[in-house]
Parts: sequence; structure tokens; C-alpha cells
Amino acid sequence: MLVDAALRRSLIQSIAETVIEHETELTDLDQAIGDGDHGLNMKRGFGEVLNKLDEIAPKPLPEALRDVGMTLVMTVGGASGPLYGTLFMALGKELGGEPTKEDLTGAAQSALKALMARGKSEPGQKTMLDVLAPVIDELAKPEASWDSVRSAANDAAQATIPMQATKGRASFLGERSIGHMDPGARSSQLMIETASSVLETAQS
Ligand code: ADP
Ligand code: MG
Repeated sequence: MLVDAALRRSLIQSIAETVIEHETELTDLDQAIGDGDHGLNMKRGFGEVLNKLDEIAPKPLPEALRDVGMTLVMTVGGASGPLYGTLFMALGKELGGEPTKEDLTGAAQSALKALMARGKSEPGQKTMLDVLAPVIDELAKPEASWDSVRSAANDAAQATIPMQATKGRASFLGERSIGHMDPGARSSQLMIETASSVLETAQS
């Protein structure tokens, strides 16, 4: 599908606005098993992305994604800034301006590898990876739809609740990290849900 300037703007703006709208919820989740800054960190980063939207959206998709990633690295702070920054920058490196579903899947798989290398982490540790990895597995299925991708993201975020964290700040809590959704898993889910809906509308 052609990701033109209007669609790039709509994708970036919708993702940023959704994350910012959920500041309080993300902060509450991080208050339970972290240091309570995830909502603010993400709001700061995506607020700056919105400030730069007129500059970013007209650029070709790889450069636009790289700019979003660099903005997040520079402004989010916390563990999640460099990780989300790496994800967007790595996606940008792999995607052309008119990606097929296979191109998107391949780029997402590479970006996930880059994120895991950056975080020295893997799925199963109660982090954003526990949403991103199963969503990319879903996307790789021939029968995947935007709806099945959204469901996979929602199920995966819920599935972090009974997990015990073994990576990131929440791991300091040991067993007390059990019973709460991981904040990064929730922010990843929000971004995937929004991107899927925007892409679904654009394709219909
Ligand atoms: P910090 O933990 O530095 O306060 P944030 O609160 O912004 O940063 O982000 C916390 C989220 O980052 C966690 O909920 C988790 O999903 C994610 N995270 C933390 N460390 C890692 C890691 N090494 N790999 C993957 N994700 C991580
Ligand atoms: Mg935090």
C-alpha cells in the first residue's frame, strides 16, 4: 500500500495523540510496578513528535520513521525512550515508501531484533516485547487481518498481568510485579491498535 504524506501524517498524529491521551493510565501502571514516569515520559516524547509533525510528515517513510525514532530517543528519557526510538528507526531503515504486508512483517521482525539487542531482553520478561513479539507473529500469518492484529495486541497486553518481571525496573519487585499490566506493554498495545485502525481505514 502507498503510504503517502497524508497517511504518514495521520499515522504519526493518531499514534501520538492516543499515547498522550493515556498519560494517566500509563503513569498509574508504572506507579504500581515502576517509578511512575512512563506516562509523562511518553507524553513528552510524542508531544515533541507532534510539534515536529509538519516537518516530519512530508518526508519519505524511512526518513519520517527515523525522525520519529530520533525524537523519542532524545526526549522520552527512561528505559522506554531508547527502546521505542530504536524500534521506529529500525522500522524506517527497512521500509520503502510503498510496503506490502510482507515488507511490513519483515521490517517489524528486524526492528524487534534491534530492540531486543538494545534492551538485552527477550519476550517472557514482562516488557513491551511481550506485546510486540506476538503481534509480529500474528502479522506474519497469511490470514492475519487488522482486526486479528488488534486482538493479538490486546490479548498480549492482558497476558502480562500474571507475569513476573525479570527485566527493567519492575524486576526489582520480584513476585510483587505479578498482578499488574506492564506499562510498556500497554503503550505498545495502544500504538499498534491505533496504527492498525488508521491503516484499515486507509485501505477501505
Ligand atoms: P523506566 O523504567 O526507566 O522508568 P519507563 O517507565 O518509561 O522507563 O518504561 C518502562 C517500560 O519499559 C517497562 O514497562 C517495559 O515495558 C520497558 N522496558 C524496560 N526495560 C526494558 C528492556 N530491557 N527491554 C524491553 N523493554 C523494557
Ligand atoms: Mg518508569
